[in-house]
Amino acid sequence: MEVLVINCGSSSLKFQFIDSVKEEVLAKGLCERIGIDGGRLVYQREGYDKITTEKQMADHTVAVKMVLEALQDEENGVIKDIHEVEAVGHRVVHGGEKFSSSIVIDDEVLKGIEACNDLAPLHNPANLIGINACRALMPGVPMVAVFDTAFHQTMPQKAYLYGIPYALYEKYGIRRYGFHGTSHSYVSRKAAEFFGFKPEASKVVVCHLGNGSSICAVKNGKSVDTSMGFTPLAGVLMGTRSGDIDPAIVDFLYHKGMTIEEIHSLLNKESGVLGLSGYSSDFRDIEDGVAEGREEAIRALDVFCYGVAKYIAGYAAAMGGVDVIAFTAGVGENDTGVRERVCEYLTFMGVKFDAAANNVRGKAAKISTDDSTVQVCVMPTNEELVIALDTLALVQ
Ligand code: ADP
Repeated sequence: MEVLVINCGSSSLKFQFIDSVKEEVLAKGLCERIGIDGGRLVYQREGYDKITTEKQMADHTVAVKMVLEALQDEENGVIKDIHEVEAVGHRVVHGGEKFSSSIVIDDEVLKGIEACNDLAPLHNPANLIGINACRALMPGVPMVAVFDTAFHQTMPQKAYLYGIPYALYEKYGIRRYGFHGTSHSYVSRKAAEFFGFKPEASKVVVCHLGNGSSICAVKNGKSVDTSMGFTPLAGVLMGTRSGDIDPAIVDFLYHKGMTIEEIHSLLNKESGVLGLSGYSSDFRDIEDGVAEGREEAIRALDVFCYGVAKYIAGYAAAMGGVDVIAFTAGVGENDTGVRERVCEYLTFMGVKFDAAANNVRGKAAKISTDDSTVQVCVMPTNEELVIALDTLALVQ
């Protein structure tokens, strides 16, 4: 079954067209600057060069139309007819407590997603626009919503409640939801199997370290705790996000004269590795800085790796041990230095790091020694494939 996977932002739309049975990407790309000047579509058929088309896109419906035309293009397309798009899988950021798994989209589901808009005001409305644009252009084609939060709905109450009045949870749904669920679900399963464990009888910690980072404790195939919270701002330090801070800092800055909007921007866009280093959010630049002995780079990386290690050790307590630690996403898959520094903290719990094996990027690899009590690996994530597979399973 050929599935179009859509990940819609407020002014962008990423897509992949996937043969979900063969698990192969046929084409992929991105529409940028939708609804604003300078719109463009970048399209790439697998194995061919990227093609960039500059064109104004008034809204997401126009963008989806361009994607469908590109897929049918005589020269670079991969289908002859729009009907070869057999299903569409949509990434939806927030499913609240309503959605604990992927679901076929109907009017009722759309209402449910809309009811979660409050919880993800920047993301869910954009996801809905993408769904509606696809429904308008491909009537009758089954569509599936795959939620970032759904995998974490198995967390026990003790992991998801905050220490604030319970009434706020009941009234507004203020609790830990967690994100990156498709990645944690996929990588935890792959990593367990990689070392010969059955996912349903294993204790895995997944470190999804990218621009946004989150750690997840996966016990017997189910998320039991995760570092992101009510929003994706919580948890470990990230590229530009602060991660966990004392909430009283918000109050303090407010009384120093900053507006709520300025504080929001500070914590989301000017903090994290960028804020601590003062020069970059990109871990490649930070590693270069560390190699040159730049103090600001060293402190940013130190805070990051220390924070990741503390979460892993905490999740060992949460699960009563750890069988496998998996590193994934842009930083986890590529930054050998981060993996080494994080693992150094974990020797006390039986992690024996294999420095030679660690010299690997972007592919599945064991990076612990044979006599390590805890197995450690690099495991590339593939969120689009999970969306395509969930779509296939539900539509069939
Ligand atoms: P997102 O959270 O946006 O999906 P990714 O998972 O793609 O992000 O991660 C992007 C980040 O990965 C970059 O900002 C960069 O810091 C990091 N990264 C990519 N390649 C390398 C590398 N070779 N070494 C260190 N870090 C890398």
